[in-house]
Amino acid sequence: MDRISHWVNNKVVRGTSGRTGKVFNPATGEVQAEVDLASVEEMDSVIAIAKAAFPAWRATNMSRRAEIMFRMRELLDANRKELASILTLEHGKVPSDALGEIARGVENVEFACGIPALLKGGYTEQASSGVDVYSIRQPLGVVAGITPFNFPAMVPMWMFANALMCGNTFVLKPSEKDPSASMFIADLLRQAGLPEGVFNVVHGDKVAVDRILDHPDIAAVSFVGSTPIARYVYETGTKNGKRVQALGGAKNHMLVLPDADLNMAADAAVSAAYGSSGERCMAVSVVLASEAIADDLVGKIKERIPNIKVGPGSDPAAEMGPLISKEHRDKVAGYVANAPSEGATVVVDGTDRAKDAGFFLNPSLIDNVKPGMKCYDDEIFGPVLTVMRVKGYEDGLATINDNQFGNGTAIFTRDGGVARQFQYDVNVGMVGINVPIPVPVSYYSFGGWKASLFGDQHMYGPEGINFYTRGKVVTSRWPDPRTSSVNLGFPQNR
Ligand code: NAD
Repeated sequence: MDRISHWVNNKVVRGTSGRTGKVFNPATGEVQAEVDLASVEEMDSVIAIAKAAFPAWRATNMSRRAEIMFRMRELLDANRKELASILTLEHGKVPSDALGEIARGVENVEFACGIPALLKGGYTEQASSGVDVYSIRQPLGVVAGITPFNFPAMVPMWMFANALMCGNTFVLKPSEKDPSASMFIADLLRQAGLPEGVFNVVHGDKVAVDRILDHPDIAAVSFVGSTPIARYVYETGTKNGKRVQALGGAKNHMLVLPDADLNMAADAAVSAAYGSSGERCMAVSVVLASEAIADDLVGKIKERIPNIKVGPGSDPAAEMGPLISKEHRDKVAGYVANAPSEGATVVVDGTDRAKDAGFFLNPSLIDNVKPGMKCYDDEIFGPVLTVMRVKGYEDGLATINDNQFGNGTAIFTRDGGVARQFQYDVNVGMVGINVPIPVPVSYYSFGGWKASLFGDQHMYGPEGINFYTRGKVVTSRWPDPRTSSVNLGFPQNR
């Protein structure tokens, strides 16, 4: 049985807690590895190592830091197929989806390569007579990332690329369900030239997370996962004086107005609902269909579903893989089974595969859902698309704004004025206009509203830079310098 251990000081370190978790191959249902689960003592030792590495890393000049991230970008590019195969093996997503995840993660590494420009401060000459004022941003120290199972490569890249380039050292606690991608990435960072102790991976469960949240030497925590844990991480971390950004769950609505291109809307709904088996925080999980076109739209979605090829990532034809675990698969199937008793209509029942040894489901489609039904109120996080019928724009907008989550949303229409009004009115952090999965590019920032994000700063992009640094303003006055010297060499940075 393979053993997945921690990554500390640029090497694999065997766990000593005596506790391990099981890592499954979701396509077969078999246990394929054991992962070490860290103890409090192991956490303390890793955090001490990251703390010791901080002064030298912080002092490493920006050109040198950026050089390492440029090399990391090249290494990720050269190794993307191997990393994708790790994602497929442990998470289950099919190779095309895994490669998409890596590409969107690498964008953040590319963004972070521009750190010298990103950390530029402001400067005011002669704020007072002979007095200049300028602002700088400095790193926080040791920062931690706690990540979910569904993007084992991309979400860590959302965090560490900016955190490291800002001069922090990093402790990553990835999901214990698919821990190998972070080990692979850690080794690429080593190959790129990152010094020992600057990036560390500890595997673990609540014990590890709680130690991150109460350890005095952790300055900030970035979390991505489900809403109850995000709330807990935010409340506990901030109570202990840490800076925390905690991204939670979602229920993403796609509002389709009568003037929309219905074929385009149906293609988008199917792609966004069932891609990655619906295990995406930006997946469309509710279509709000205007009454005038609802029957048509549901028909178009239904006719597309049989064409989706569900299978293991090892099958080149497969477009949708298994879910992460048997428990999760069974929970998702339960929403479909329960829907008729709540008054909803199951148009396509994909739960017939729930008996497979692998954790597969086929896509399901549920019509006539309403608030108050579990299949509407809960985040299902599986290949289940629900349809709610709404009268039109106002009704659809009110439904979205009444929902507890506010991660992503989309409107499908040909009317630019209505689309513009929607972006103005809707209480959601990421909005698509005829775009079903509006994940911002890396030079904007990612984050939802309401129960989809706890904290003030969104993740990655400019807000990520702010999150991983703190500002300082210097007010200075100098005697007039009278000294100078001659040096004909070309001025250098390194
Ligand atoms: P999860 O909340 O179960 O786990 C996330 C992390 O928290 C993991 O590292 C896990 O080990 C840790 N954790 C789990 N239970 C804990 C506990 N009781 N105490 C302390 N730590 C604990 O989430 P998941 O199932 O891995 O991921 C799916 C969820 O993540 C979905 O809700 C999805 O919407 C959300 N998600 C959100 C975003 C976003 O950007 N908003 C992105 C991806 C995933």
